[in-house]
Amino acid sequence: MPVFEQIIDRGHERVCFHHDPRTGLKAIIAIHNTTLGNALGGCRRWYYETEDDALYDVLRLSQGMTYKCAAAGLPVGGAKSLVMLPKPGHQATEAEARAMGRFVDTMRGTYIAAEDVGVTTQFVDWMAGETKHVMGGEKVSHGGDPSPHTAQGVFNSMKAALRHLGKSVDFKGLTVAIQGVGNVGHNLTRLLTQAGAKVIGADINQANVDRAVKDFKIEVVPVSEILTVKCDILSPCALGGVIDGHVAAKLRCQVVCPGANNVLDDPDEDAVILKSRGILYVPDFIANAGGVIHLAGLHVGYSDQQLAQKIADIEATALQVMGDAGQHTSTHAAAVALGDRKISEGAGKSRRREEMAAG
Ligand code: NAD
Repeated sequence: MPVFEQIIDRGHERVCFHHDPRTGLKAIIAIHNTTLGNALGGCRRWYYETEDDALYDVLRLSQGMTYKCAAAGLPVGGAKSLVMLPKPGHQATEAEARAMGRFVDTMRGTYIAAEDVGVTTQFVDWMAGETKHVMGGEKVSHGGDPSPHTAQGVFNSMKAALRHLGKSVDFKGLTVAIQGVGNVGHNLTRLLTQAGAKVIGADINQANVDRAVKDFKIEVVPVSEILTVKCDILSPCALGGVIDGHVAAKLRCQVVCPGANNVLDDPDEDAVILKSRGILYVPDFIANAGGVIHLAGLHVGYSDQQLAQKIADIEATALQVMGDAGQHTSTHAAAVALGDRKISEGAGKSRRREEMAAG
């Protein structure tokens, strides 16, 4: 599909492409919607086979951020950026991060960058050497790694799922399968094993598998089996698009509660397939909002207490969406409706502010 058609179709405000001749950096910033405020979203470093794949990813991810922030009640819009790596596993350099920081700075604060896959707190701090519009560093910018907060939100969403199913909110005796034991997956494994759950995990990165086995004694299965392993809760915490109609038909879990973004290949269709199979789907952008709540909340000046409350509130939001799903085709549709409602309320408020200012 032509670029403008894709942008218009998803409702983006601005999509910028950048090449830094000095480092060869190729990057995209996609600002989806700023109705509720300046837009915060992670920067992903990833190797894409084609430019079309990269554009598809950044458009989808940034659109998801709008709904994630809106549904979480944050006064923040949705955006995402990505650095297109020249080859898989390409090591990050300070020069590349600084080039990305200069690109972020050209947005003059409409976009605030943070971590995503492939971006560490060090990379964020390098970017922060060039722009103040970043969150999630430890030395130059602040906020730190958001993944413990993301994992806490996913854990809270699992509690909501158990509650919605009328089960006791007790993880003892439950088996949770986690695809990807990276930052989010590892922190989630900690919370689950502390609560008494058995965790089955898989990862393409052997070092991350070994770490999870050493720290939490998880059971390991091959990556090709993790999605269809028999379990109570499946939590994909790797990359997006892992559940399509074909995979949905083979799942052997009662609940899908993701840490990853865009886990459903086609959310409108796949969420309905999951529903028809009696599998409860906690929408990804509700479940994994903890990280953005932490960084965006710090950015807009929330206190520690307010941040903790907002992350705790994910449980109630997930419960509300699962309850609302009866009036929609799926839990995903109910979550989108909640996001749309919050965005219209926000648009109404800013219109009223403008009218009052104009007298
Ligand atoms: P990460 O890179 O630390 O971890 C991802 C892990 O998934 C890695 O260990 C990787 O080896 C593994 N992986 C990749 N492909 C795999 C496959 N096919 N099978 C099994 N394992 C595979 O990233 P992260 O920060 O933990 O983020 C994980 C996901 O959660 C991403 O989709 C990210 O966008 C999303 N997310 C992260 C945060 C956060 O706070 N970090 C917040 C919201 C959403």
